[in-house]
Amino acid sequence: MSDLHVPDDATAAPASGRSGELISILAPMYNEEQVIDLFFDRVDKVLQGLDVRIEFICVNDGSRDRTLEMLLDRAARDPRVIVVNFTRNFGKEAAMTAALDQANGHAVIPIDADLQDPPELIPQFIAKWREGYDVVYGIRGERNADTLGKRTTAGAFYELFNKLSDVKIPPNVGDYRLMDRKVVENIKLLHERNRFMKGIFAWVGGRSIGIPFVREARAAGSTKWNYWRLWNFAIEGITSFSATPLKVWSYLGLGVAVLGCAYAAFLIFRTVVGGVDVPGYASLMVAVLVLGGLQLLSLGFIGEYIGRLYMETKQRPAYLISEVVGGASLAELEQARPSATAAKASGPRGRA
Ligand code: UDP
Ligand code: MG
Repeated sequence: MSDLHVPDDATAAPASGRSGELISILAPMYNEEQVIDLFFDRVDKVLQGLDVRIEFICVNDGSRDRTLEMLLDRAARDPRVIVVNFTRNFGKEAAMTAALDQANGHAVIPIDADLQDPPELIPQFIAKWREGYDVVYGIRGERNADTLGKRTTAGAFYELFNKLSDVKIPPNVGDYRLMDRKVVENIKLLHERNRFMKGIFAWVGGRSIGIPFVREARAAGSTKWNYWRLWNFAIEGITSFSATPLKVWSYLGLGVAVLGCAYAAFLIFRTVVGGVDVPGYASLMVAVLVLGGLQLLSLGFIGEYIGRLYMETKQRPAYLISEVVGGASLAELEQARPSATAAKASGPRGRA
């Protein structure tokens, strides 16, 4: 069983066209009892014709339904399935980080468990990877399955992100992609706690190519992202990868100060020339309200960054694991993967 999960040279770049490479399918799962069976059935169908070895790293992100139970049941029957169980819900970005840390494959493929990312793309991913690409990502051609509101806000976010940040995220690209082991090792070098994975993926770079696909509707169950969560996700993405919102205030402040001085000069001139005027309530109010608003806004932005600085300085782990079930034993894994510090820090591992 162990030879299924521990490649003898897990960190070596795969030779082009070599069969028998190990591919890790990374699936974060939060309350996904309704889709788990559908997910494995459909992915398995795609994988059957491929000459690769497979491991599934399924992260149970603190589900409150039967997700864990169903995953453990599967791991007991299927040696390809490794279940990483979180102590609570840490969010999709943390779940993906954990899956990347646990993966042993020559290449990894993060995929949503709800089948919105069609598994039928996997053979194309692998083909491009064998051609020598480090990253093969899926481009969501049409997003008809998503609501109009979600599509427009997502579009606006990527435009803003790419204007503000030095690393550019290709628009309409999600987490669904294949990444070579080299890329995974590079991602593991980034230890930040605020894990905006799309930004991190873009930051590490690598020889990349995109494959268009149509994003489907969720197979079953419901989305875990409401607008408030998406808004926070957007703020996190921008503040993690750009300091522009922090710097813009000095320029805005300068602009307002120059205008204020000009206006003051005008008032003095008018008083000198035309004598004492009726006290200007309107201009006073405008100045107070505009300046007050700007100050609050800038304070808010500074607060966003200070909050994140505060979280980073705590040096807390991005996630905590209560157990890892299935796959190779701890000793075997650590031999194959000397950098397994995250697993060590995260608690005991079990075996089904
Ligand atoms: N997910 C997770 N933890 C969370 C929220 C979501 O692991 O806190 C997983 C979820 O189980 C799914 C994937 O992330 O496999 C995408 O979530 P969802 O489909 O709800 O997001 P959407 O596709 O609506 O953006
Ligand atoms: Mg989804």
